[in-house]
Amino acid sequence: ARQFTRPLNDLANQWNTLLSAIAGAERVFEVLDENEEAGDEGASASLDRLEGEVCFRNVSFSYEEDGNTLTEITFTAHPGETIALVGPTGAGKTTLIQLLSRFYNPSSGIITMDGRDITTIRRESLRSHMAFVLQDTFLFAGTIRENIRYGRLNATDEEVETAAKLANAHSFIMRLPDGYDKKLETGGSGISQGQKQLLAIARAMLADPAILILDEATSSIDTVTEVKIQEGLNRLMKGRTSFVIAHRLNTIHRADRILVLKDGRLLEQGSHEELLTKDGFYASLVK
Ligand code: ADP
Repeated sequence: ARQFTRPLNDLANQWNTLLSAIAGAERVFEVLDENEEAGDEGASASLDRLEGEVCFRNVSFSYEEDGNTLTEITFTAHPGETIALVGPTGAGKTTLIQLLSRFYNPSSGIITMDGRDITTIRRESLRSHMAFVLQDTFLFAGTIRENIRYGRLNATDEEVETAAKLANAHSFIMRLPDGYDKKLETGGSGISQGQKQLLAIARAMLADPAILILDEATSSIDTVTEVKIQEGLNRLMKGRTSFVIAHRLNTIHRADRILVLKDGRLLEQGSHEELLTKDGFYASLVK
């Protein structure tokens, strides 16, 4: 198994690169694909449309030969649902997302999207239906317009601006000296953390994927921007199956389903109310 022979740190670094990117375009992944773990052999099908149903059936996974990082994970996300991933550091939240985006294939069990085993679908095709809004937005040296357009490379200027408006990014962009033509440095120095998030949302909006992966920001952002981000995110998540690595109680509350992970196991799943009633691990976390 090739999977076990590559230096794991190297891969962790790649994932960090991915985590610092938001993807909607295949391009983001191309760089990473070169060194990827999960082979694409046998994956010949493409997904033209995706409603966004995601099922994990007894999915287990380990990075190394010994011990499972994820053990027998089973859940269903219906199209348009928001799924919050909750649990202590090291519980396996990121790993679950990596399996979903086919960074790795499960060691056993099956993941389906709209009923199709994702290992049979070309990675590129799979990822054309996914966008990421992560804590650290990947911004490259180029204009704001180019950075948003990264979500869908053939988008017109008008489409870029429409996405920015829906994301609540338009007003801050218009206040910049060069507006959409303002040049950003790599990493986006010169704009705030919150503004970077708004750009990430605009980019994902433009990509218009069926599946969204969100890693909620833990760093504090000023209240006004925070409200804008939340509003933009709500618009973005509407009608899409969203997986949120959630840190805020408010986000978790509103999720259709909460997956409570601990030590790679899915301890509990259900809505906030259901889990409180259950009075298990989640209830103890909330308290
Ligand atoms: P979470 O996102 O919930 O904090 P992770 O999915 O990042 O949890 O990690 C789950 C477990 O897998 C941890 O014990 C972590 O150390 C381990 N792990 C994560 N990435 C790698 C890797 N690339 N190689 C080996 N072990 C890893």
